[in-house]
Amino acid sequence: MAVRLKLGSYEPVESDPLDRSSIGYFPRMTEAEAWEAGRGVWRMSTEKIGRQKFALIVAEGRVRAVGEITGFTVHDDRVALEGRPLAEGHPVRDAYLGKKDPVATGSQNPVGYCDLPEEQQFVQRACGCGCGQLSDRDFLPGHDVRAMQQYVRTYFDASPRKFLDWVDGQLTAAASLGGRHKWPGNLMSPEMFNEDGRLKWPEPATTDNANGENRRKASSAGTEVTHGQ
Ligand SMILES: [Zn+2]
Repeated sequence: MAVRLKLGSYEPVESDPLDRSSIGYFPRMTEAEAWEAGRGVWRMSTEKIGRQKFALIVAEGRVRAVGEITGFTVHDDRVALEGRPLAEGHPVRDAYLGKKDPVATGSQNPVGYCDLPEEQQFVQRACGCGCGQLSDRDFLPGHDVRAMQQYVRTYFDASPRKFLDWVDGQLTAAASLGGRHKWPGNLMSPEMFNEDGRLKWPEPATTDNANGENRRKASSAGTEVTHGQ
């Protein structure tokens, strides 16, 4: 989500917490001026604003600046954003600058929130390994491997062989219950199944090398499919 902040009309001020000589919108203001006028000070939830990455500054129904939020400051019962206006070429700025106010609530509240599809690639979320750090992907670099190893240690006696055997068992069971469509997440690629929906592997219990080779290939193919999602 992003926060939308709606400017009132221009008005000089005497004592401003951000040391500005005026607040509000005036015609032909630059993006930097719109950001400075719009970043504060507002009555808004610090808990909620702490989770926003972008701010749209709106005046007279149009977006006048798009800023990246890097933090906030508290001034009595009001909050000001820290950050900077986005430069030309940034996909979030280019999608909204000059466009109509995307928050169509009909509310008089100058502070509103909206989902921007363009911001998804920039939004930070908790790394999937549980380390507590933030990432704009599922995992920080290398932490996916760490998470896998942790699972193997915790649930499979630190034995990758046991883990692969368990996966094989799950896939075989899924196939016997009606094929890949029964498999949660549908991780399997169609070419790994026979026409009747049963897995092509593992082959019926034999101990020859060709079978072992087959199982390894199939496992790595499954991993590739997972990465692609
Ligand atoms: Zn991590």
